[in-house]
Amino acid sequence: MMAANTLIRHITIQRQSLRQLETQLNELQANCTHQFTETTTHRECEKCRLLESLHY
Ligand SMILES: [Zn+2]
Repeated sequence: MMAANTLIRHITIQRQSLRQLETQLNELQANCTHQFTETTTHRECEKCRLLESLHY
């Protein structure tokens, strides 16, 4: 079993890299020329996976 300090360090690192990935995805989605596929409840961009609800 890993010590608490080690686990906390891992969690911190993972959170930072998760935030980085989310930022990258947001930038990608902001710059995408969307190509949506519609389902009954949502539409999703085939290229960047941006999901939009069709419920207003
Ligand atoms: Zn897109």
